[in-house]
Amino acid sequence: MFENTVFGRLDQKLQHAIKDAGYETPTPIQEKAIPYLLDGRDLIGCAQTGTGKTAAFMLPILNHLVRVRRPRRIGHPRALVLSPTRELAVQTAENVKRYSKYAELPFACLIGGVSQYGQVKDIKKGAETVVACPGRLIDLMNQGILYLDQVECFVLDEADRMLDMGFLPDIRRIISKLPKSRQSLFFSATMPPPVLKLAGELVHDPASVTISPETPTVEKINQKVMFVAKSQKDALLAHLLEQHPEWNRVIVFTKMRHGADRVVKKLFRAGINCAAIHSDKTQGQRTRALEGFRRGDVRVLVATDIASRGIDVPDISCVVNMELPLETESYVHRIGRTARAGESGAAISFVTQEERGQLKAIERLIKKSIPVDRDHPFEAQPDLPPPAWVAPMRGGQNNKGGAHGPHGKRRRKSFIGRRQVDFGQKRGGHK
Ligand code: AMP
Repeated sequence: MFENTVFGRLDQKLQHAIKDAGYETPTPIQEKAIPYLLDGRDLIGCAQTGTGKTAAFMLPILNHLVRVRRPRRIGHPRALVLSPTRELAVQTAENVKRYSKYAELPFACLIGGVSQYGQVKDIKKGAETVVACPGRLIDLMNQGILYLDQVECFVLDEADRMLDMGFLPDIRRIISKLPKSRQSLFFSATMPPPVLKLAGELVHDPASVTISPETPTVEKINQKVMFVAKSQKDALLAHLLEQHPEWNRVIVFTKMRHGADRVVKKLFRAGINCAAIHSDKTQGQRTRALEGFRRGDVRVLVATDIASRGIDVPDISCVVNMELPLETESYVHRIGRTARAGESGAAISFVTQEERGQLKAIERLIKKSIPVDRDHPFEAQPDLPPPAWVAPMRGGQNNKGGAHGPHGKRRRKSFIGRRQVDFGQKRGGHK
């Protein structure tokens, strides 16, 4: 079926499922990683979400489970994937389900925030693959429901995020329960020294695959910056949504949870269907929001960074950064929600004067400067002198600094009634 690609080396049952998923050719990370994994090698993969990395590790693991059958032992899975967030775990489990549909490989997805009842039931049915977040996994191990002594393939996904979230002690504990002889896969979007150290503890003689951040996935995203005062950001967002009715799936990122709730309230009042996902929301609320977004009932999903990794929803028209992320790398993860697997997408960042430094850091990371879109009614122009008619009036209001404000800096000014935004080539381009 896939004779000329690495997919052709997989079991027929998996190939059928891949075909059903609509994949025609492997993505670069699949092309590079699958042969090593089929040979049983350990792997360090430096790749971001959106590159097809889930299939890159899941397909060879499922292939091993199909081809090397063993008597099923309840509560002793053969493959374990560790995910930092519930959303990512659910998505990975959905992929497991999708790829193993002809192979009869039971699995369980173990996440916190929901009852363990259904999850224990899946374990008792003989789950061979377990996708889990560290907390719930340890919980079930402590209860004597799950044991890791038969794990043959172990994946640590989004290791950098795991460390950011403080999971290192949990991860060490989990690794200590794994058998010494196993295949270990380690994925991370970034490889700072603490992450590399953890990788060193986990893998043996690994193959290494890097899909650099300058992948076409990010290149394809139409990135824009809009300079705007903090107080005008909500209004600018509402304006853009009104100007672009064709944007039917938009993700809006905020730095803080209460910021996300505030945006949702404002959009809701403006009659826009929206929902928030962040760590204060229950698992049920998060799942409902994501499902609504996937179905298209929820037009705007407002999320914090914790929720941002691994949101795998196709056809996202636009990503809006209400604030730039605190961690520079998060910018790439955020905008990677659009332009998944070869599609093109748009990403707009609202930037205040105070955020200029962060913007420069992001531009250094992605090694390009992001074009500024000044054609919107809420434009703040900190670098330009205010128009002549503004200066005397403003100067009169503030004797300390005249038109340039108390510290000699030019003050921001909003201009209402500028030309309508035409957000470029994307207009009408998104379904
Ligand atoms: P991931 O990086 O694993 O989150 O995958 C991103 C998206 O790409 C998911 O929607 C996958 O279903 C999709 N995908 C993965 N591999 C392929 C492929 N070979 N061809 C087309 N789409 C793919």
